[in-house]
Amino acid sequence: MKTPLCATLAALVLFAAGSALAADRRVDPPEQVITGRLTRADHQTHREVVFTVPPGATRVTVRFRYLRRTQDAGVDIGVFDPERFRGWSGTTRDVFTLSTEEATPGYLPGPLPAGRWRLVLSASQIRPGAEIEYETRVAVETRPRPVEFADAPINPAPGWYRGDFHVHTGDSDGSCAAHSGRETHCPVYRAVETAAGRNLDFVAITDHNTTAHYNEMRELQEHFDKVLLAPGREMTTFFGHANVFGLTQFLEYRMTQPDAADALSWIQAANDSGGLVSVNHPGVATGEECMGCGWSVDPLPPGSIGAVEVVNGGTLDEFGTPEGPKQGFDLWDRLLNQGEHVTGIGGSDIHNPDLPTERLGTLGSPTTAVYMPELSVKGLLAGVRSGRVFIDIDMRPDRLLDLRAEAGPARAEMGGSLPLARGATATFFVTARGVPGGQIEVIEDAALVPALARPTPAEGEASFAVSGDGARHWIRVQVRDIHGRLVLIGNPIYLTP
Ligand SMILES: [Zn+2]
Ligand SMILES: [Zn+2]
Repeated sequence: MKTPLCATLAALVLFAAGSALAADRRVDPPEQVITGRLTRADHQTHREVVFTVPPGATRVTVRFRYLRRTQDAGVDIGVFDPERFRGWSGTTRDVFTLSTEEATPGYLPGPLPAGRWRLVLSASQIRPGAEIEYETRVAVETRPRPVEFADAPINPAPGWYRGDFHVHTGDSDGSCAAHSGRETHCPVYRAVETAAGRNLDFVAITDHNTTAHYNEMRELQEHFDKVLLAPGREMTTFFGHANVFGLTQFLEYRMTQPDAADALSWIQAANDSGGLVSVNHPGVATGEECMGCGWSVDPLPPGSIGAVEVVNGGTLDEFGTPEGPKQGFDLWDRLLNQGEHVTGIGGSDIHNPDLPTERLGTLGSPTTAVYMPELSVKGLLAGVRSGRVFIDIDMRPDRLLDLRAEAGPARAEMGGSLPLARGATATFFVTARGVPGGQIEVIEDAALVPALARPTPAEGEASFAVSGDGARHWIRVQVRDIHGRLVLIGNPIYLTP
């Protein structure tokens, strides 16, 4: 049953207010900037630059640079917190970061004790008469937020980027062949190597509940600099599984009731920190085989869920099709019919990166393509939130599915909203590439509209028109190949009266 628009809006406003009240309002302290000068008097000494970390810090980032140098030789840097040594990078890095879960290679993640920290400048060689002027900038964060493992976007250009949202490694129950051939816990790098080898643009590593994989991901991101490594984890509860993307801090998974309040303890924490919650394989049954695999959490306030894993690779492999009640369409349709804007994505849920691509459900199968403002974690989250996203069942980079609509002067891209008055006409334009002889299907409010089906155009766009009836609707498209197999699944455009 559909929720009347006014009730949905009221609920949204209430939720927004509640969310704002609960939101973390901690403000980061101002950046500490410390400058200094070294001369021959500092030759072969260990000078200390002291900075302060306040209680409750979630991240410390140190940037060191020379303002002026009269010799080439620099100084080695290392750092001590108030209690212990935290790492050393000599002259090879001018920036490093530490958080509870992960740190720049050469540095140790862990608790960030409050107090006086010391950046140690070890001057192995300062010539007589030489001078070195330096600057140290220390940024302390005091609230969790989305984490980038790379210093800059992997690609700054806007565009379609393709990847896998659901990958396990040996940091939970992922396995692969060791050098002896024995199947054992699979290191994170093997999954990343497979993703890079399959030319994916991004991969989210989503081990169950743990936060232990992030430190390795930061190290791997430097080396695998063409594939975005996105922080993820699969919240694995007795009452459902959901991926949280973007964040690295611990989130409470120990639910004991399926009620909304228990679930919101972690969902709201994730949303308040700028993360994104995606319900996984909601159509799979819960039982001894799979703890909490189906989604049985009571209805949540609107806006709680950002995405649904509409196609799960494990289920795809089991049934040989992305269709059927075991996939995530039912929950997705229900949320969309309630007036929510929830993005449909796919994820392989792969537990072994060695499985060959001939099989469905291997790493990258299905692929999800996301239109991003840039290839970064920020861009990935923004892209999923925008809803300009499609699922590619066959991992085919030549395939593309896009949707746009016009009604008078109004325009909307896939994922967007289009105002459509009663009696007015909206024209929809579909780009469906790489599926010659295929068929575009149109779905309105979860129901197939056979009269609007179109053959995939050889070039350009296919189009169809819809009349406004003064009510709220959502319309999405999907593509079948020449054999009738569902191969591309698009996200809706939302019609608003
Ligand atoms: Zn799961
Ligand atoms: Zn999983």
